[in-house]
Amino acid sequence: MKDLSRKEKVLIVDDVPGNIKFLVEILKDEYDIFMATKGQDAVDIALSNKPDLVLLDVIMPEMDGYEVCKKLKENSTTRDIPIIFVTAQDDDTQEAHGLQLGAVDYINKPAKPAILKARVKNHIETKRQRDSLEKLSIHDSLTGIANRRHFDSFLDQEWRRGIRGSLGLAIIMLDIDHFKKYNDYFGHGAGDECLKKVASVLENSVKRSTDLLARYGGEEFVAVLPQVQLHGAEAIAKKMRRVIADLKIDHPTSETADYLTISLGCASIFPTRGSSWKPLLKAADEMLYSAKNNGRNQYKSIVL
Ligand code: GH3
Ligand code: MG
Ligand code: MG
Repeated sequence: MKDLSRKEKVLIVDDVPGNIKFLVEILKDEYDIFMATKGQDAVDIALSNKPDLVLLDVIMPEMDGYEVCKKLKENSTTRDIPIIFVTAQDDDTQEAHGLQLGAVDYINKPAKPAILKARVKNHIETKRQRDSLEKLSIHDSLTGIANRRHFDSFLDQEWRRGIRGSLGLAIIMLDIDHFKKYNDYFGHGAGDECLKKVASVLENSVKRSTDLLARYGGEEFVAVLPQVQLHGAEAIAKKMRRVIADLKIDHPTSETADYLTISLGCASIFPTRGSSWKPLLKAADEMLYSAKNNGRNQYKSIVL
């Protein structure tokens, strides 16, 4: 959804202040404007303010527009910001070069106000749609937390980071106890509401911004805990078990308790070069299975 409370941010980059002023006059009513007269400043402002679009002059002393464009495309924080080159040059080769570097558009100076406005608006709209599709593609539609696809790519990334930094990595797999019986008793709609509640409470119990909680499948969740070793994972598993039990969600047909409970499996490892995270996930799953067999409403853990 579009956040109506904020104006989109446009960064204008040109070494001639008069050129910036001209563009500011055209755009200032509709956008929050940021300005830079040097390439390096533009890169810094883009990193710290994450503009929704950049209007970029090509010829500037020190760092030129192409270089700025390259730098923005190299950094994952700024890679997806649309860039429009605004330049006095009317040269097809130059234009092609700018587009090859990843710019979305090319406007000649002096820009015609109505056309500039329309192009900026179109590119920002396209970016907004892309962002919202991307958001949909990595979130689970029922619970709003990360989905399985996001879990996979997040774990890939954290596995590589763990290898580079010789850092520990832990996983917790967890599953609601007797959830089939919950659905059978209360109905599928109530089951869905219950899953949402469980997801939101679990997400609050993995607080660090580096952690990820994802819905792994039906009533199964998984937490990825970078730079965490087994005792840290166990502390989080204990907390998860407790916060769900403390909800005291009625579950009259559970064989484990008269309220809803979860079982958990923890596993931790130091990722090494050439290895895969699959055994870590498998181990967490086996620990979950063991917790289920041992009476549910508990966690089991293992160090690899
Ligand atoms: P256990 O304690 O061994 O985990 O038993 P269980 O009944 O929880 O496990 P089982 O795998 O037999 O059943 C899982 C149930 O979860 C079956 C299915 O109806 C329910 N479920 C899975 N996804 C959803 C969902 O999106 N919404 C609802 N309401 N129920 C779901
Ligand atoms: Mg279950
Ligand atoms: Mg299950």
